[in-house]
Amino acid sequence: MKQWVVLSGKGGTGKTSVTAALAHLAAQERRLVLADADVDAANLELLLSPEVVEAQDFVGGKVAAIDAARCTACGRCVEVCRFAAIVSGDTYRVDGAACEGCAACRYECPAEAIDMVDRVSGRWFRSETRFGPLFHARLCPGEENSGKLVAQVKQRARHLAWTMQADLLLVDGPPGTGCPAIATITGADLALLVAEPTVSGVHDLRRVLGVARHFGVPAAICVNKADINPARRAEVESLCREERLPFLGAIPYDTVVTRAMVCQRAVTEYDRGPVAQALRAVWECLRAGLE
Ligand code: SF4
Ligand code: SF4
Repeated sequence: MKQWVVLSGKGGTGKTSVTAALAHLAAQERRLVLADADVDAANLELLLSPEVVEAQDFVGGKVAAIDAARCTACGRCVEVCRFAAIVSGDTYRVDGAACEGCAACRYECPAEAIDMVDRVSGRWFRSETRFGPLFHARLCPGEENSGKLVAQVKQRARHLAWTMQADLLLVDGPPGTGCPAIATITGADLALLVAEPTVSGVHDLRRVLGVARHFGVPAAICVNKADINPARRAEVESLCREERLPFLGAIPYDTVVTRAMVCQRAVTEYDRGPVAQALRAVWECLRAGLE
């Protein structure tokens, strides 16, 4: 079983459209498991219309909880909390959104009235889609443990992929190069980097390429919306030559991508024009790697 991740150094490159097209093409001839690792803004599900078959809470850490029956209202916890997370009034209570889970209040409370309890930071889902099982998740607003949630989504997806002897686990990664991207890329067999031919796109491509190298994951590159800036597209191609990276192709800009998205279809399902042809060419390059 191979594990491929689709990444881009920045948002808005069309990474999810590329992932959906590859999922469509791969599913025609392979056993496939999908994962959406963009837990802050999951959008692969918008294209795949998943039917949820399992949903579980994600516990991202701990939060303080005051037992009013034991609390003597001494005020020590308010003094000790550096995050102003304890609200005092008639009673003392913890503002869960402000609590960082440091447990300082618990250690200082003379009445032992504070417990550290699980903090539900999001939910993850296993769903069925027309291309195969999809693992996806949602982080609660304001929560920060997205790297941990990505790791959990990937772990569940990998386990099912092994169990059903899938040929491929295809992961739609988050934008950027932070903790969620690192959690996505670790353990992958290939990072497909979707570049945008703009100044920031090329800059962020170099950064995400550095992350792939750091973790020893081979990378291959395609350029999306390739005709919007021929000079920057040439820069990406020359980067691939210099760094001896596989260049998988150039996908032209076309509003058909948006039209397919509105119809909740991968562009290769929706159309047979130049964008779909370019994506089929990317898949043909990649499938050689599966074999
Ligand atoms: S330190 Fe403990 S006893 Fe004192 S106010 Fe806080 S919870 Fe209540
Ligand atoms: S666990 Fe830390 S952040 Fe949370 S209420 Fe206690 S002292 Fe404040």
